Amino acid sequence: MPILYFNSPIENIPEMTEAKASLLQKSLRIFTIYDLLTHFPYKYIDRSRVYSSSELNEKLQYIQLYGQLNKFNIIGEGKKQRLVAIFSDKSGHVELVWFKGIKWFVRSLKLNQNYLLFGKPQKFGNKYNIVHPEMRLAKPSDVEKMKGYRSIYSSTETMKKRGLDSNGIAKLINITLKNIDKNELNEFLPSDIIKETELMTFKESLKNIHFPSDNNSIELSKKRMKFNEFFNIQIQLKKSQHLRFTVQKGFLFETLGDHFHTFYKKHLPFKLTSAQQRVLKDIRKDTLSNRQMNRLLQGDVGSGKTVVAIISMLIALDNNFQACIMAPTEILAMQHFQGIQSMLKGMNIHVEILTGSTKKKERIELLDNLLHGKIDILIGTHALIEPKVVFKNLGLVVIDEQHRFGVAQRSKLWAKNTLAPHVLVMTATPIPRTLAMTIYGDLDISVIDELPPGRKPVKTMHSFFNKKIECYQFLKREIEKGRQIYIVYPLIEESKKLDLQNLIDGFESLKEIFPSPKYSLAMVHGKMKNEEKSQQMDSFVSGQTNILVSTTVIEVGVNVPNASIMLINNAERFGLSQLHQLRGRVGRGSDQSYCILMTDYKLTHIAKKRMQIMVESNDGFYIAEEDLKLRGPGDISGTRQSGDVVLKLASISQDSDILKLSQDVALKIINKDPLLESEELYSLKNYLKKVIGNLDLWSKIS
Ligand code: ADP
Ligand code: MG
Repeated sequence: MPILYFNSPIENIPEMTEAKASLLQKSLRIFTIYDLLTHFPYKYIDRSRVYSSSELNEKLQYIQLYGQLNKFNIIGEGKKQRLVAIFSDKSGHVELVWFKGIKWFVRSLKLNQNYLLFGKPQKFGNKYNIVHPEMRLAKPSDVEKMKGYRSIYSSTETMKKRGLDSNGIAKLINITLKNIDKNELNEFLPSDIIKETELMTFKESLKNIHFPSDNNSIELSKKRMKFNEFFNIQIQLKKSQHLRFTVQKGFLFETLGDHFHTFYKKHLPFKLTSAQQRVLKDIRKDTLSNRQMNRLLQGDVGSGKTVVAIISMLIALDNNFQACIMAPTEILAMQHFQGIQSMLKGMNIHVEILTGSTKKKERIELLDNLLHGKIDILIGTHALIEPKVVFKNLGLVVIDEQHRFGVAQRSKLWAKNTLAPHVLVMTATPIPRTLAMTIYGDLDISVIDELPPGRKPVKTMHSFFNKKIECYQFLKREIEKGRQIYIVYPLIEESKKLDLQNLIDGFESLKEIFPSPKYSLAMVHGKMKNEEKSQQMDSFVSGQTNILVSTTVIEVGVNVPNASIMLINNAERFGLSQLHQLRGRVGRGSDQSYCILMTDYKLTHIAKKRMQIMVESNDGFYIAEEDLKLRGPGDISGTRQSGDVVLKLASISQDSDILKLSQDVALKIINKDPLLESEELYSLKNYLKKVIGNLDLWSKIS
């Protein structure tokens, strides 16, 4: 018999086929035993009770009856044909009706044998009948065993075809629970905490959430599972915070040297806002504190975070350290690279870029230069995390748009120098407080709550496709005033090809509406060669073209102050934070700017609500809060990776008590035994090692 552990691959489950495993991986992102065991039912059907036919009433939903089929008849002709049977139990009888598969039912149903029936009674005249009930043969001695709650799991159509419907999944979970190493299910919380919090034990809750015995146990086990989800995050945060406050020393940036002064005096094209100055003071303080900085910089789109990052990096350089910026996409990394290079032009600073598409030869040379300290600032994507990327003396890491990097990934960057480098994470998408507390609970927070001067709030309008003509007239008038315009088409992962065609068609018809030579249009999308892309971009940035037609590649980073209109096609297909980001591309100059949300007339309730929020508010924090409410739990980290934040059951907005509890418990444990060395915490250590993909936090740093 194979023995399973939380981190075993699902392929190890007895009876698992390759086809099934691959489906589970692809469709539900279930890779390990723990992933499977935390694929929770989305609802339960109550089969705990058997009713008698005399109890039937209109208020009942699905119920069970136990009795026998007395007779059946086929009634009617053609389409109206139906099979009607009389089902009787001790208290009376009820009619059963089938409209489909009549022949099959006539053949397989057995008269005068005991069945446990499951279905929804309907009143018909003054009698009750049940249409298409589920029938299971059941000896009287079996009925007790068949009672209980039935868990219903989500699965896709393809999965259902391959035997992975709800029942199929339940079966796999059952087999898994039977074959799991018993120690894995040991309670990982210390017993006094279990006593105090009255949480259901780990083992009990894992069994009950899948195979509950009653309603009460469902609630208790859900609570414990939600607790675990929060706890998995909180224990990492509290540990890293503890390390930062005690063991870990930080680099000292004592000098404000040539780089800093030259930039400040000769390169900085504007006066810093007081919010920017305040944040820089926070950063100065951190980097002089002898502790490692771990700071989150929140600031709405366009609030000027980049320059704060640049100045911080220059301070690192002045103290003989290297610095890097990590961005979530190649485009954004490229934009930072270009922007930073031009800001630092003429200063003796070597800036380089490293992404997944850096050619091998260049990469080898770059890594060598990095190791020998010939590169001062490295800009890049996830590629920077890789172990091969070795710095001579990394002092500061800046992570932009950090919401896609979890604590585990950040910790990999810490290991890139003898002491952990200072870390500044910047987010353009404001994070609601509760969310910040959940994911970034180990970070200190600074906020830029002020936009650079002279900006007028963007006016947002919601318009429908049938108003296109009027809309284009408006655009033409703005172009006559010398303004520039963004027109965005959606690009969604699953239908990339279709969307690209959509964009290209749109571009062609826009060329007819805005004909040359009077107007000129540029287009960019992700499938373009880099060279062509930057050529098109440049023509817009320099003002040669009036309109930039694009996919969301312009979502982050682009800065053209003369562009005053953002028109978003199929705005209903974008999330709120994405819409807010896009809108942030305009309103950067002194002119009145507009954002036009173009949609179909028919919209879902949620889409309507999103448009309304956008029209009403320019406040990124408010929008982020509303976004969280509309999206509900789950998808907070965007793309999921191992070691990332995963909330399958818990909701940040609705389960804040459980979140608070998990924080308290994590803090208590870490305060008492930060390295989890005591015997009492052995199970916890084992659990964390197996369920949290990346445990650098627990090994390397401690
Ligand atoms: P974000 O916070 O969204 O990353 P950026 O750093 O890209 O914003 O800044 C947006 C624009 O505002 C840029 O053009 C930048 O040069 C400009 N900017 C930043 N700070 C100031 C300031 N203090 N005064 C005027 N313009 C500024
Ligand atoms: Mg930015």
